[in-house]
Amino acid sequence: MEVNNLSYWEKANFYNTDVLIVGSGIVGLNAAITIKKIAPKLNVTILERGFLPSGASTKNAGFACFGSISELIEQEKIAGTDGLHQLVEKRWKGLQKLRSIVSDQQLALENNGGFELFTTAQLALSEECVSKIGHYNQLLKDITGEVDTFKMAENRLNQFGFHQIDTIIENRLEAQLDPGKMIKALIALAVSLDVLILNNCEVKSFKTEESAVFVETQQGIFKSKKLLCCTNAFASQLMPKLDIKPGRGQVIITKHIDNLQFRGTFHYDKGYYYFRNVGNRVLLGGGRNLDFFTEQTHQFGETPLVQNTLLRLLKEIILPNTSFEIEQKWSGIMAFGAQLSPIIEEVEPNIFCAVRCNGMGIAIGSQTGYDAGEMVLMSI
Ligand SMILES: Cc1cc2nc3c(=O)[nH]c(=O)nc-3n(C[C@H](O)[C@H](O)[C@H](O)COP(=O)(O)OP(=O)(O)OC[C@H]3O[C@@H](n4cnc5c(N)ncnc54)[C@H](O)[C@@H]3O)c2cc1C
Repeated sequence: MEVNNLSYWEKANFYNTDVLIVGSGIVGLNAAITIKKIAPKLNVTILERGFLPSGASTKNAGFACFGSISELIEQEKIAGTDGLHQLVEKRWKGLQKLRSIVSDQQLALENNGGFELFTTAQLALSEECVSKIGHYNQLLKDITGEVDTFKMAENRLNQFGFHQIDTIIENRLEAQLDPGKMIKALIALAVSLDVLILNNCEVKSFKTEESAVFVETQQGIFKSKKLLCCTNAFASQLMPKLDIKPGRGQVIITKHIDNLQFRGTFHYDKGYYYFRNVGNRVLLGGGRNLDFFTEQTHQFGETPLVQNTLLRLLKEIILPNTSFEIEQKWSGIMAFGAQLSPIIEEVEPNIFCAVRCNGMGIAIGSQTGYDAGEMVLMSI
């Protein structure tokens, strides 16, 4: 698409680059930062279709987590024990990497611990999870450096004030952060390294000619030596052959609650529901499993089925004795696939992708971006 009235200067300085990255989420920003740190002379431009990043990175729940026991059980079935060990190691190291790039203060990181909850009706699941505590503590020992990453925490039941919950497994290494602050800090770092970030610029298509990639957007055609797609759930729109399925996550947050009784991150029903405190508010998300078909979408939005279930969970289990009002709701789109690890590869000559964070991008996004940045640099 030709855009009218571009000057010679604009075309030369904004539309011509060495590396063009699509998507300014945690992966795209980390890839850009990596490239500029290693090769400061390269021109790196990020094209972002939203006014803000518009996928998952600023819409998520901010759990700095590496897997609850019920999630690990499911993931071990898919990846095997060694595969799971590698996955958890990636998440753990990924979180340390994020914290080495952006300070804990910038992330508003708080170590309040993570808790997996089971109701009285989930006896079989809770017994299975409790029986696996030893197995996962052993498996994760060399990763976390702790002998008891997971432990029973029945003593917290009264303190938290939940209804119908009779089993709690604690992971005191789990933390929480502010995803908005995280992305703001990553943008500031990228800009300080001279990365050009252009918003409201959706990539429609691309093609390679000789040794250049031509990228069509609604703002005109960009030319680059290399193209790196960090568009996560939306990657299949530009690269249909990739094994990526979108998964929408709906989220609600309450207004301030006086004397909120809990702090921390909470997992419920095999991780399909998650909630945490945000100061004195409660953020709750999930419910994709209520209707996988409808939630497998690139469209943001809410459905009565999920919203009503989230509200019921708040009223009946999380805040049974506390009145609350909902302040805001929103949704974000995650990327899933048959395999649990991200796709970081050269799709065709000079065209790369780093996508499919499987709902764990805070943990693996920085390392995924780093690996992608190195991969692109190796090809230059
Ligand atoms: C509700 C919800 C809760 C979550 N909670 C957690 C959590 O607690 N902990 C955790 O670790 N993970 C969580 N996640 C997952 C995590 O947010 C993601 O894994 C991570 O943000 C993915 O980062 P990304 O950079 O790969 O993708 P994204 O953040 O989605 O970034 C991709 C970017 O590409 C842009 N884009 C797409 N197509 C185009 C195009 N054609 N042209 C230009 N730009 C384009 C999008 O606008 C977007 O900004 C959650 C996700 C959701 C939705």
